Formats: sequence, C-alpha cells, structure tokens
Amino acid sequence: MLERGMVVDKERTFCMIKPEGVARGLVGEILTRIEHKGYRIVALKMLRLTREMAEKHYAEHREKPFFRELVEHITSGPVIAMVLEGPGVISGLRKLMGATNPQEAAPGTIRGDYALETGQNIIHGADSLASAEREINLYFRPEEIMG
Ligand code: UDP
Repeated sequence: MLERGMVVDKERTFCMIKPEGVARGLVGEILTRIEHKGYRIVALKMLRLTREMAEKHYAEHREKPFFRELVEHITSGPVIAMVLEGPGVISGLRKLMGATNPQEAAPGTIRGDYALETGQNIIHGADSLASAEREINLYFRPEEIMG
C-alpha cells in the first residue's frame, strides 16, 4: 500500500501560464495558488514558443477552426512552463484552473476569477496522464526536473 501511495504522491503534470497571464502580471498570483494548494513546482522556465512547438503542443486541435488563432496567440509572447508534482495533481490542477470557457468557470478558480474569453483563458494544464507525460517531455529535459 505504502509503495502505491508513494507512486501516486509523485504524480506530475505540465502547466503553462499563457502569454496574457504573463502580460497581465498574474504569474505570482497563479504560482501562489498552486503552492498554497500544496503542489510542488519541480521545474519552471520562461520561454517564447516557436510556431513548431505550438503546433506540436496543440497537435490534437490541428483540425479545429480555432487552431490558427490558438497558435498565433500562444506564440505572441513569453509563457511560463512548469512541471508540478503532488497527489492527484493532474485533475487537481484542472480544478484550480476552472472550465475552458472562463464565463462558465466557477468563481474561486483561476479562469473564473481572472478571465472572460476562451481564447485568453490564462492557464493551460494537461488533461490526462498521457498528455502530462507528452507535454513534460516536449518542454523539459529530464535533468531540468528537480526530483
Ligand atoms: N480554445 C479556443 N476556442 C475554443 C476552444 C478552445 O480558443 O473554442 C483554446 C483555449 O485557449 C483552450 C485551448 O484552445 O484553452 C485548448 O482547448 P481545450 O479544449 O484543450 O481546453 P483546455 O484543456 O485548455 O481547458
């Protein structure tokens, strides 16, 4: 049991503060919420995505009508990319974020408190274990992640 518990405690996810979150000065607020919840930030960097990175990141949306705009937007300025660790962090981060459409996101969530537009919803979080692993590997080399 203990061993299983230990593995779960080490669950990791990928999180990104999108360009509008950085531009609006919300980095500190978002990191505070993540840390106060109890998740550990085990990797963090600021970067500006290339078009190629953005298209890889959002590959699952390639056929969607909003894909072009999404890639334009996510490459428009610097972002903060992070790996977070903690029990249940994949679904827990999604709860802290709130619904994709900020007008439907509950008050108390990051999107609910700070955004109004789906295309400007401030924060990204991986939506499954497979996405988390894929996205962590897209942004970070293993030695950049603090165990
Ligand atoms: N998005 C958009 N228009 C839409 C749906 C999504 O601009 O109609 C953007 C939005 O920024 C969203 C991202 O595409 O965060 C990825 O969409 P997804 O459905 O994966 O939502 P998320 O997992 O970010 O809540």
